Amino acid sequence: MEKLYLYQWTWPEIKAYLKKDSVMIVPFGSTEQHGLHLPLGNDALVAIRLAEDAARITKTIVAPPCWYGWSPHHMAYPGTISITPETLTRVLYEVLRSLIYHGFKRLIVINGHRMANLPPLQIAANRIRNETGAYVTIADPFYLGDTVSRKIKESPPGGVGHAEELETSHMMHIYPELVNIKKAVKNLPPKKKFHVSDPYVITDRTFTPSSLESFRKITEPSGVTGDPTLATVEKGKKLHKALVDNLVELIKLARKEKVVLKPVTPCF
Ligand SMILES: [Zn+2]
Repeated sequence: MEKLYLYQWTWPEIKAYLKKDSVMIVPFGSTEQHGLHLPLGNDALVAIRLAEDAARITKTIVAPPCWYGWSPHHMAYPGTISITPETLTRVLYEVLRSLIYHGFKRLIVINGHRMANLPPLQIAANRIRNETGAYVTIADPFYLGDTVSRKIKESPPGGVGHAEELETSHMMHIYPELVNIKKAVKNLPPKKKFHVSDPYVITDRTFTPSSLESFRKITEPSGVTGDPTLATVEKGKKLHKALVDNLVELIKLARKEKVVLKPVTPCF
């Protein structure tokens, strides 16, 4: 059996790995509603598949994935599990600190819960970098796949949101058995000056959080924002390849980073 995950290794094997290498991939996702056509585990599954594919190519270890994220507005739909941003920051911080204590100096965090999880994860990464000297970087498909996403998407401006064209295409390629494309429905968000969450729109904007009630109102009855009916396997294949290629390059660059660790204690 191929051993990609930390939990499949023994401690003497980790000790030996650390003599030659110090990279770890750390996948973080969420368990939240993804419309009528995608599974609740979507974001964790995306982070996991990206981590596995990049790890296989670069011979890197993957940390046990985190299936929970910050998804307060998605609580409008059954099955969503949301932890607070403080907890999420704490979980990533303490996981990284444990790994760094053992000698993992280069940590590649993959955020499958695009954009929404970023602020709490960024706080943890910033803190750990400053406190320990370790190299930490967060790869988020919205931003790591910026170039290819702009090329492949056909959704109108504002149409990249939740369980939409890109996310659905990606899942159709990596977990086709979990996608029920017949149930995909289009729901473009209402146009409102400054209120643009689509990361691929160039515009002046502010950041206005949805409340649980406002999110329910604009997404009922599906939970979607955007147009998943434009999704294709072909687009998903291109997106996934670009993301994996970038991750592989990122890991190679991380191996070249000069890293000097400060003395680190575990979290007590
Ligand atoms: Zn998602």
